[in-house]
Amino acid sequence: MITSREICAQCTVGYHAPFDRFEQVAVHRNGPTFLYKCKTCGSLWHETLRDAKRATPEEVAALYPGASV
Ligand SMILES: [Zn+2]
Repeated sequence: MITSREICAQCTVGYHAPFDRFEQVAVHRNGPTFLYKCKTCGSLWHETLRDAKRATPEEVAALYPGASV
């Protein structure tokens, strides 16, 4: 399993294009917010309509209880 410390150079910089480096893992219906996973390093990003930030496993479990990450 990839730990949160092993993130790729792109994720170190932040959530930015090219966005095809992410795969959508889950959608929060009441958001709408989205859970994305970096294909390179596996880090998880919680995207809202305004911005995005890296999500901890605890946040993912709380926001996307059905997501398999
Ligand atoms: Zn990454």
